[in-house]
Amino acid sequence: MKIESKLAQIGSQKEPVTGAVSFPIYQSTAFRHPKLGQSTGFDYARTKSPTRSVLEEAAAELENGDAGFACSTGMAALQTVFALFGQGDHLIVSLDLYGGTYRLLEKIMSRFGVSASYVDTNDLDAISELCTPQTKAILIETPTNPLMMITDIERVAAWAKSKGLLTIVDNTLLTPFFQRPLELGADIVVHSATKYLGGHNDVLAGLIVTKGKELSEQIGFLHNSIGAVLGPQDSWLLMRGMKTLALRMERHQHNATAIANYLLAHPAVDEVYYPALPHHPGHEIQSRQSSGNTGIFSFRLKDARYVEPILANLKLIAFAESLGGVESLLTYPAVQTHADIPEEIRRKIGVDDKLLRFSVGIEHADDLIADLEQALAAAKRHVEEA
Ligand SMILES: *Cc1c(COP(=O)(O)O)cnc(C)c1O
Repeated sequence: MKIESKLAQIGSQKEPVTGAVSFPIYQSTAFRHPKLGQSTGFDYARTKSPTRSVLEEAAAELENGDAGFACSTGMAALQTVFALFGQGDHLIVSLDLYGGTYRLLEKIMSRFGVSASYVDTNDLDAISELCTPQTKAILIETPTNPLMMITDIERVAAWAKSKGLLTIVDNTLLTPFFQRPLELGADIVVHSATKYLGGHNDVLAGLIVTKGKELSEQIGFLHNSIGAVLGPQDSWLLMRGMKTLALRMERHQHNATAIANYLLAHPAVDEVYYPALPHHPGHEIQSRQSSGNTGIFSFRLKDARYVEPILANLKLIAFAESLGGVESLLTYPAVQTHADIPEEIRRKIGVDDKLLRFSVGIEHADDLIADLEQALAAAKRHVEEA
């Protein structure tokens, strides 16, 4: 079955008693046992809960993995995965990383003796140099956020396997609709389902999907032991969002491509970072390993003084910190999402004070371009008058 059909049908044939097409929200935390030694398969909702289970089965199927785990947030999903590691373990991580993941590694995991090195994960020589006997895993974001750097998942996962390392991919930006890392050799996929999977800026959630029996059991143990699980209401809301993922991703991609091309030709814009553009350094790998492009890109303005008046003059596009929803949001990474990354590292990777990140929604592209056009014109006037 094609992924569009799997998405639309999430949970729709799982309720045999009433035939409910929208799978019900089972709010119960406790489940009655018929008698000693017997169980319905559910006993306590942290361990397993019916609405969450339907979501977890769908997540595993969509990513072509063996088991899925729904967590309270994307960060909870990452923390659950990081709990695989302990004192002395070392991780190799994509350089231009989600700020919250960097913070979790540097401020919290470091206290448990887990260290991380940050590198362009597409550079096999650089990775090899960082690999020590303590290295346990490589964590990849592709594309990265906000600079949209691309890593060849298949090539890196094959290298990791040869060294006995786990490959973990944060697939938030592309979703299984466009990219399935487990099919390319990764062991674990993590999502902030708060973003495209939920899709409506109204639910916080995280997902983990694993390949292999042993790893699935390990993550299952950690998921239940740590307890950062997703509640039934939010599980339902996430599944409701996911049913339209295919339509939304196609529209996000369409709009982002149109607007990236518009900005690329704009005199106030220095560079546009979007892998769908042929001049993007990751374009070729991205076209090979993914069936489409995300709705996010970043662009660098020629002058940092444009930033403030652009943000102040936007009418349709919101100045806000998130991504992946139906509404368009413009983010200023240096002061918002990436504020926890030291300025020196931010500069090095290119997250500077001229960079804006655009999460393109599903509005009409013409309206979004018109809004940018007037905000850019206002910014130009503002700078000229100053
Ligand atoms: C948002 C995000 C996270 C964190 O997810 P939350 O749901 O906000 O906890 C992790 N990775 C990426 C790439 C993200 O965009």
